[in-house]
Amino acid sequence: TSLNAKTLKSFQSTLPVPTYRREDVKQGIVHLGVGAFHRSHLAVFMQRLMQEHNVKDWSICGVGLMKADALMRDAMDTQDCLYTLVERGIKDTNAYIVGSITAYMYAPDEPKAVIAKMAHPDTHIVSLTVTENGYYHNEATHSLMADDAAIINDLNHPERPDTIYGYLYEALLLRYKAGGHPFTIMSCDNMPQNGITLKAMLVEFAKLKDPKFAAWIADKVTAPNSMVDRVTPRCTDVERKFVADTYGIQDKCPVVAEPFIQWVLEDNFSDGRPPWELVGVQVVKDVESYELMKLRLLNGGHSAMGYLGYLAGYTYIHEVVNDPTINKYIRVLMHEEVIPLLPKVPGVDFEEYTASVLERFSNPAIQDTVSRICLMGSGKMPKYVLPSIYEQLRKPDSKYKLLAVCVAGWFRYLTGKDMNGKPFEIEDPMAPILQKAAVKGGSDPHELLSIDCLFGPELRDNKEFVAQLTHSLKAVYNKGPIAAVKEVLDQV
Ligand code: NAD
Repeated sequence: TSLNAKTLKSFQSTLPVPTYRREDVKQGIVHLGVGAFHRSHLAVFMQRLMQEHNVKDWSICGVGLMKADALMRDAMDTQDCLYTLVERGIKDTNAYIVGSITAYMYAPDEPKAVIAKMAHPDTHIVSLTVTENGYYHNEATHSLMADDAAIINDLNHPERPDTIYGYLYEALLLRYKAGGHPFTIMSCDNMPQNGITLKAMLVEFAKLKDPKFAAWIADKVTAPNSMVDRVTPRCTDVERKFVADTYGIQDKCPVVAEPFIQWVLEDNFSDGRPPWELVGVQVVKDVESYELMKLRLLNGGHSAMGYLGYLAGYTYIHEVVNDPTINKYIRVLMHEEVIPLLPKVPGVDFEEYTASVLERFSNPAIQDTVSRICLMGSGKMPKYVLPSIYEQLRKPDSKYKLLAVCVAGWFRYLTGKDMNGKPFEIEDPMAPILQKAAVKGGSDPHELLSIDCLFGPELRDNKEFVAQLTHSLKAVYNKGPIAAVKEVLDQV
């Protein structure tokens, strides 16, 4: 049976379904970028509030900004925004229907209506999971990529924006003109200081249009930082078939995730917020230390395993974790080169955290692919891995050999050919530039290092670091990823 509001009740003997009256709940959140992660994370916390605590002002209106979101629109439209969440643990599988998204808008077709919805007085929070690349953040200068075609479009065509900034600016302007106070902007993407970065980029965008209004945004709009965590792979036909065969549900867009879920959130909201503490969210004064721990250990570990693991021929992340050389590499990398840089987190032992992350990654049931971990590297590497290198370079006793081999893996991956010469597609908005430089440079990293929006002079001009990177890159090219890793492991 197809999943929708009419058929929902018929599934309740098979799995838990929302029993709150969805039509009675106001949409207090507009969410930009309804991908897999939003639906396994924020939407789940909101469902718990509605289901278990009768919260009535906080359902979600989802918005897709990209042309590719037409598929999600079609699925959401036919299913009344309902979907199946399958939690796959190492031993058990648990599934339920999520109903906390109660409307979906596809921005390319109705930009004005999306802006009006964001500006509506019932909207208290505009949240986002638009991937790291959706922020148009120049990694080297920490400024807005103001010369990007999409940003230029938004500066010139406020009536049909392409990026989050055009939408946020226009919606906040409506609030400002109406004399109201602004909604909170809440990034749920994996970025260091995700709130601070989002707001800083928005203010830069606004300054290019109207400095006075930009000052109002700087003064009045709040943007909490957060640390978000739940491994959520891309859904495939295998999962759709599983949901159909196991629960009898025809679902076009189920979500599969690991059972683990965590959200540490800074309490910084200008227009109210849901009582998230009731459902396990850690609402704290300062999330920076949590964020750094997670981005550098979990996401950094993922990236390090991803590029080297892909080149080693693995398909799934759990297979990479089970490779003894890579497993040892990740543990030693974290222990020697990453953990010593991290500020303390109350009550957390970083070695235990690393071990728990590796255990989560070893879960074969979620079938998380190495290729998913490798995509969008231009947004991820500068946030997850390169910061540890910059910090190591500033120390008198710099240690970065293991970090360098991860960068070497990424650079070799960017040629778009595996170790047998078989081509594959690089999914990254910067793919054409990156691939051209990787192919041209070969085992010499200078071509890639000269891309200034990714690498700062501090890294590019450091002779010792570049020599180490060159050494590892040559080793990856000539001996393969595992031998290159073994070689540096023997040296530390
Ligand atoms: P996804 O591919 O399922 O969805 C990504 C969404 O972002 C889509 O709606 C897409 O249209 C939108 N998007 C992409 N580029 C955009 C742009 N330039 N402007 C506006 N929208 C854009 O991916 P996902 O699994 O939902 O992950 C999204 C983000 O969530 C990640 O990049 C990461 O920051 C965060 N996250 C993901 C996971 C996970 O395990 N999947 C875990 C923690 C955090």
